[in-house]
Amino acid sequence: MKKKTGQDRSITQGWRPATKAVRGGVARTEYGETSEALFLTSGYAYDCAGDAAARFAGEQQGMTYSRLQNPTVEMLEQRIALMEGAEAARCMASGMAAMTAALLCQLSAGDHLVGAKAMFGSCRWLTDTLLPRFGIATTIVDGTDNDAWKAAIRPETKAFFFETPANPTLDVVDIAAVCGIARDAGITTVSDNAFATACLQRPMELGADVVAYSATKMMDGQGRVLAGAVCGTEKFIVETLLPFTRNTGPTLSAFNAWVVLKGLETLDLRVRRQSENALKVARFLEKRVPRVLYPALASHPQHELAMRQMEAGGTIMSLFLDGGRAQAHGLLDALELVDISNNVGDSRSLMTHPASTTHAGLKEEVRLDMGITEGMLRLSIGLEDPDDVIADFDQALGKAGL
Ligand SMILES: *Cc1c(COP(=O)(O)O)cnc(C)c1O
Repeated sequence: MKKKTGQDRSITQGWRPATKAVRGGVARTEYGETSEALFLTSGYAYDCAGDAAARFAGEQQGMTYSRLQNPTVEMLEQRIALMEGAEAARCMASGMAAMTAALLCQLSAGDHLVGAKAMFGSCRWLTDTLLPRFGIATTIVDGTDNDAWKAAIRPETKAFFFETPANPTLDVVDIAAVCGIARDAGITTVSDNAFATACLQRPMELGADVVAYSATKMMDGQGRVLAGAVCGTEKFIVETLLPFTRNTGPTLSAFNAWVVLKGLETLDLRVRRQSENALKVARFLEKRVPRVLYPALASHPQHELAMRQMEAGGTIMSLFLDGGRAQAHGLLDALELVDISNNVGDSRSLMTHPASTTHAGLKEEVRLDMGITEGMLRLSIGLEDPDDVIADFDQALGKAGL
């Protein structure tokens, strides 16, 4: 009997999520390797010149050049699409390559985009600096205010762009409501799902058209490689995204794709355990610092909405201290186990001070409008025993006078 492969969508779509994460997209070579093969090749050879011509004409199946296709990258793309419930996905060299491609591939001078104010710093650079430079107007709204999205629509509005929960403010966007508003107006929604991942939240099931990822975060999950992905309908990917990416080249390396393939096998386990750990740490911190924002805490202003659209609170929280930058830096410096690092989604717990690192490039008024104060810290919880993380905070908070 022929073994079921991870390539046949009629079979793989029926698999449960854990099976998709381990076997989805797998294409074995004639050697029958169990683990996915790593194809470090930039080009492909043809049996005859006619084959080369036919492949370039799109009349023959097969690969031509690794800027366009690579077997290892394709395995990852199919697995991500399956896990997301998307018709298709394409991988990019980083999360920012994915966000840039997802927007620029569909927007032209004269178009208008509405974006949420609470976003990753570089995503705000796209909306505030890059797009306007090319004649694409942008309006920034409070992403948590459904009416604000509706009010910002103009006849030339082509796209809505948001992330939820947002980095680093943990603002939660009502995906179903905002996507409904967009759909009624013929607007494409692009949802950055890096913080929740498909394990906790599937924006397409709630009406999002395009889901984009930094796979650097939870998908790799062990702080090794940069990667990104864009998921959408087959039509969007083939007709809108591919002409942009094939010619501009934000291609993911096969090696990095292979690392992320390995990461996806344990994504569900890690996301759920790290979310459990995060909730435990958040409950401790809530008693010790003036304010903690974490979607699974009842004190989060959008707790109910977050728990409606997410299966758990995720791995990231933010804390607010009253003593400004000095106290925030003091707490970071007093930590012995938790690393000072601006990455998130690692198996190690990491903390950063966004105002002086990830969001330092934004104007102060933009930062404050987003809710990023001098006393704010962003904490990404890893796979350590949460009691060790709590013990580290206990001693560090004491040293920081808290
Ligand atoms: C990290 C991050 C990005 C950018 O991803 P890179 O892989 O670092 O380029 C985009 N959006 C969110 C929400 C992120 O956390």
